[in-house]
Amino acid sequence: MQTWLLTDREEDLHKAATLLRDGKLVGIPTETVYGLAADALNGTAVASIFVAKGRPMDNPLIVHIAQMQQLSSLVTEIPEQAKALANAFWPGPLTMIFKKADCIPQEVSAGLDTVAVRMPSHPVGRRLIELSGCPLAAPSANRSGIPSPTNARRVVEDMDGRIAAIVDGGDCAVGVESTVIDVSGERVRLLRPGAVTVEMLQSVVGDVEIDDAVLNQLAEGATAASPGMKYKHYAPSARVILVKGTPTAYAAYVNAHADDGVAALCFDGEEQELTVPYLTYGSRHDAAQQAHRLFDALRRLDEQGVRVAYTACPSPEGVGLAVYNRLLRAAGFEVVDLG
Ligand code: AMP
Ligand code: MG
Repeated sequence: MQTWLLTDREEDLHKAATLLRDGKLVGIPTETVYGLAADALNGTAVASIFVAKGRPMDNPLIVHIAQMQQLSSLVTEIPEQAKALANAFWPGPLTMIFKKADCIPQEVSAGLDTVAVRMPSHPVGRRLIELSGCPLAAPSANRSGIPSPTNARRVVEDMDGRIAAIVDGGDCAVGVESTVIDVSGERVRLLRPGAVTVEMLQSVVGDVEIDDAVLNQLAEGATAASPGMKYKHYAPSARVILVKGTPTAYAAYVNAHADDGVAALCFDGEEQELTVPYLTYGSRHDAAQQAHRLFDALRRLDEQGVRVAYTACPSPEGVGLAVYNRLLRAAGFEVVDLG
């Protein structure tokens, strides 16, 4: 299949929207990461997303909308708390899980009785939803399991020849996937941390429960509230080992493990004491910058043939919780705590 590389000019967006209406797959920019979009109400189109990504069929997709009116046709009820959260954070990097309406194909919800919905803020992503006239089901546009793409070049790497088109809308501002919360039960529950932080959610709804899977490995055989959290995820081919400690302790530990194919993934400005090759992913004190740069840095490890990446552990506060959550999964929960 020929994959068209489209710009964000209006005529190209019309082409992409036509492809989407025809049941084809298009890589689209959002403020979080690039999405692999299809008409959410076309079960056959949605099924082809799973094939293109190699995604397990039991991992449901997020449905993207451009207008608040679209929400009411996709869900059976909109709880008061969800209305308040939508007011505060839509359009933006927040996904909410509702009880689903009958029009949602089972390919989208992966057999669950709920549906995840988000209104992205990226102008190109939103324009594509408007022009196509349909809600768009879109998981991240990577091959299943590896780090999400945060620019169009990374989507080409993973999807060239597998999908109809990719729309280049530049670098993603946030860089990690949306915050996912369940609003279908009594308490709002955080399933996946993102740029809309726990503190921001609490400022609107007061009480927020944090699902166990955010920071812990699921026990063998346990059921995941968010199926995506049960897989090793966001992982490059390189083995990632998270190292917790001061910059000096971190450097000493990494240097003691210097070997062929060993590298450091560290914070900006903390590379001076290292004797191994390194990549950086932002300042220790700037979690938003870490989020913005993390996935591209993980993909670069593989480009540079790194075998083992000792990775400086981020502090899990604010947006840092999202960075830490992704790195835990990239590392398959392999963490060294230097105390
Ligand atoms: P991705 O779009 O690739 O970031 O994946 C979507 C994420 O949202 C995955 O972690 C899914 O497990 C989660 N998700 C989507 N729909 C639901 C749902 N109905 N219930 C729980 N989690 C969901
Ligand atoms: Mg994904």
